[in-house]
Amino acid sequence: MGLVELIVLIVVVAVAVIALAGAGLVSATRRRRVGRGAPTITRAPEPTAEPEAERPGGVAVEPAPPAPPAPPTIERPVGTASRLVRLRLRLAGSQSGLGRGLLALLSRDRLDEDTWEDIEDVLLTADIGVRPTQELVERLRTRLRVEGGATPDVRAVLREELVALVDPTMDRRLQVTGTDGQPGVVLVVGVNGTGKTTTVGKLARILVAEDHKVVLGAADTFRAAAVEQLVTWGERVGVEVVRGPEGADPASVGFDAVKEGVDRGAATVVVDTAGRLQNKQGLMDELGKVKRVIEKQAPVTEVLLVLDATTGQNGLIQARVFSEVVDVTGIVLTKLDGSAKGGIVVQVQRELGVPVKLVGLGEGPDDLAPFSAEAFVDALLG
Ligand code: GDP
Repeated sequence: MGLVELIVLIVVVAVAVIALAGAGLVSATRRRRVGRGAPTITRAPEPTAEPEAERPGGVAVEPAPPAPPAPPTIERPVGTASRLVRLRLRLAGSQSGLGRGLLALLSRDRLDEDTWEDIEDVLLTADIGVRPTQELVERLRTRLRVEGGATPDVRAVLREELVALVDPTMDRRLQVTGTDGQPGVVLVVGVNGTGKTTTVGKLARILVAEDHKVVLGAADTFRAAAVEQLVTWGERVGVEVVRGPEGADPASVGFDAVKEGVDRGAATVVVDTAGRLQNKQGLMDELGKVKRVIEKQAPVTEVLLVLDATTGQNGLIQARVFSEVVDVTGIVLTKLDGSAKGGIVVQVQRELGVPVKLVGLGEGPDDLAPFSAEAFVDALLG
């Protein structure tokens, strides 16, 4: 064999070897791809793949619908600015009697004793409470006395005094985020029927509108309807809802919800609670346990007490019981649209020493607004 033939033979053999090795590599890669792909589906199932999956604690994760691929079913909640506009409009509608009535009485030529009594009646009817009413009347009497011939601007004086009564200095910010990378945990408490579950759903929408990642916990496990209601609220805005079987331990559902929030890197977990007002000890045991168990995962950053504005003194008595068993950090006053008794804002803040942070203004999904003393009084005065 000549040198040229030897070189040709070596080249042919080398090409054949490279070709075979290449084919082997490809098929090996293919095998590996097939081998790697199969378990992925079973090993790391998304919670959305198993809607009713039971979790070890007896709690199932209600899946959020796949967010981006189905935009028509995911609603975009209304932002804060337009909520404040709505607050003014709705309040002006339901509370205008109070503002108009006061202005008419205070604008009379002569403010005699009968007129001051009428003013007191208007304030008491609006649920402002006895002490705040007396204080306000005293302040108005002093300020509206005509001094040096100058007629005071009645509307401006009344506005100032009402704003002072509602207290613009209270910190009404919601503590919805945690520290050290943990989610903020909002516990929502209150008697059944006050609008607690609805408030959790509406609050989730406010947070979604602010681009917060939210998880909801349906820990009002004594009412199947409340759980279903919350699941629907969550689905509408693509928020995950952690639920348990009917009658499950509310604390375990709360725990699982917060764990889910931690695992998923959520900014906020909002937990609905049971609102059975059996007796103070029972309530204390129940809510105390929920809070204690949740805090094994992350600290509770906000406890919102939901109060129905139409329930007057009864509502206040209930609120007092709740505030004695759990450290309430903010009040949500619901159904303000259906009540002319907006004065309850003043009374409840005085009674409990905590600010009204949110107000419910209707049954619509975005009828919840941050509360502001000035916006509230301006709405009253029209
Ligand atoms: P829960 O038992 O405290 O959880 O109460 P729900 O959330 O189920 O609400 C009870 C009822 O009050 C429902 O019909 C709600 O639509 C209604 N509701 C809640 N908030 C408001 C509100 O701000 N205004 C009005 N008009 N109705 C409300």
